[in-house]
Amino acid sequence: MAETIFSRIIRKELPADIVHEDDEIIAFRDINPQAPVHLLIVPRVEIATVNDIRPEQAELIGKMVLTAQRLAADAGIAEDGYRLVINCNRHGCQEVFHLHLHLIGGRQLRGLAGS
Ligand code: AMP
Repeated sequence: MAETIFSRIIRKELPADIVHEDDEIIAFRDINPQAPVHLLIVPRVEIATVNDIRPEQAELIGKMVLTAQRLAADAGIAEDGYRLVINCNRHGCQEVFHLHLHLIGGRQLRGLAGS
C-alpha cells in the first residue's frame, strides 16, 4: 500500500501530539478535532482499510478498542460516553489509508441519522 502521513508520524518524522504508544499501537490528537476529545488510535503495522484486516489481526483490532477504552477513561469522558469510528473507503469518507480508530467525545454528539 502507498505510505501515508501516519507512517511518518509513527516514525517520528512528522510531529504529532502523541497520547499513547506501545509496541503495536500509537495514539495521537486529530489535527482537525470534531469535538473536545478527538484522538486517533493507529496500529503501527500498515493496514490500508477495514477491508484489509486479516483474521490473525483480530487481537490487534481488539487492542485498539481497549486502548480507546483506556484513553476515554484517562480523558474523563468514559461515563458520559463517546463514539468510536472507523471510516472505510470512499462512501465512508476515509481520507488517510492507514487504518485508524477515531475516539470522539467531550460533548453531546448528534445521532447518526443523516450522516
Ligand atoms: P479519515 O477520514 O477517517 O481517514 O480520518 C483521517 C483523520 O486524520 C482526519 O480526521 C484528519 O483530521 C486527521 N489527520 C490528518 N493528518 C493528520 C496529522 N498530521 N495529524 C493528526 N491528524 C491528522
